[in-house]
Amino acid sequence: MKLNEYAAKNGVNYFMISFTDLFGGQRAKLVPAQAIADMQEEGAGFAGFATWLDMTPAHPDMLAIPDPSSCIQLPWKREVAWLAANPVMEGEEVAQAPRNVLRRQIAAAAEKGLHVKTGVEAEYFLMSKDGSSLSDEFDTAEKPCYDQQAVMRRYDVVREICDYMLELGWGPYQNDHEDANGQFEMNWEFSDALVTADRHSFFKFMTKSIAEKHGFRATFMPKPVEGLTGNGAHVHISVWDAPGDDAKTNMFATDSTEGSPTAELGLSERGANFLGGIMKHATAMAAITNPTVNSYKRINAPRTLSGATWSPNTVTWTGNNRTHMVRVPGPGRFELRLADGAANPYLLQAVIIAAGLSGMKSGADPGKRWDIDMYAEGHIVKDAPKLPLNMLDAIRAYDSDGELKSILGDEFSSAYVKLKNREWNSFASHFSQWEKEHTLDI
Ligand SMILES: [Mg+2]
Repeated sequence: MKLNEYAAKNGVNYFMISFTDLFGGQRAKLVPAQAIADMQEEGAGFAGFATWLDMTPAHPDMLAIPDPSSCIQLPWKREVAWLAANPVMEGEEVAQAPRNVLRRQIAAAAEKGLHVKTGVEAEYFLMSKDGSSLSDEFDTAEKPCYDQQAVMRRYDVVREICDYMLELGWGPYQNDHEDANGQFEMNWEFSDALVTADRHSFFKFMTKSIAEKHGFRATFMPKPVEGLTGNGAHVHISVWDAPGDDAKTNMFATDSTEGSPTAELGLSERGANFLGGIMKHATAMAAITNPTVNSYKRINAPRTLSGATWSPNTVTWTGNNRTHMVRVPGPGRFELRLADGAANPYLLQAVIIAAGLSGMKSGADPGKRWDIDMYAEGHIVKDAPKLPLNMLDAIRAYDSDGELKSILGDEFSSAYVKLKNREWNSFASHFSQWEKEHTLDI
């Protein structure tokens, strides 16, 4: 697709050439349609050091080459079109750029005839403009999930976002008030992993933009309000024989529903092995699926006001039961409930594919199926790994998982570990009120 022709046909005046850095920050340049023809070939120039990509000021220009297949005309500002871009430098792909990391995983899977499809549930809160309180002072119920009155008080925001997803052809099918006061979830159809990552990325941009338009602030922060359920980003996963509409066979589906704890739930042997890879690498994956200091206020959280945290603290899986890290809700797929709203949309998909493929390669066993309420009976599970208690534990777990690091790429892994360690050090040197309160009179 020639972008200058697209602009003329659709009344686009500006293209937003966007890439996502290692911390999930979305960076963009606005390029007038008159200049897009050259930019489509050569890319938009960025100083990589100015973003979180582990570059120095001495690095040459990084060029973000737009992917025309990702083009989305902003439904709320139709003169602008958004393009996800793939960063290159001196003719080589920037190895640690998250969209490139994901594309490498997708290519590695495709070489084996495997095509991962995913759906993501990107929960968010609507806060006041300055983020200091919830946007809705009447949203105070003890169990606010599916609250009819509360969802209608934010109908104008929810409807506008959902209308846009309908217009974009994402197949949205439900919207609800979630389990925390001020929290919402909107679901759209699953798709190829790269499409889901682009949409997840765009959904965050769109939701923040529409919330701002209505005088609110949307946040995907993992635990924005102490004592309330946090923002998850649950991912539903299956693997198919072909990408896009050519997909005919779900390799996670099975006809023989006997013989193993996974088969009984309708998950094939290959699905069980993919899940086995996720289970094996889960504590290391947390560095990517739960990437911030705040993420660990959601994972390992004490029970919230509503009575459940809806987030795991242990590496366990089960059937249709939301108290575990992995749920197999029905035949042919499973849900990873580990990730939170801070997860980088591209790295989230990449680490799932990386861990899953390693499991398929080694024939990994997902281990025991625990058909129990983990919130009430978790203490009886003795041999399952606990998820990291904080970001430092997660970075260390990732850093010591040589297999996962090399599958995701050494350049990416060392850049990521380095920047995340620096972030942890910044947090650790921050002087908190808590330590004063607990130490002043010692
Ligand atoms: Mg939810």
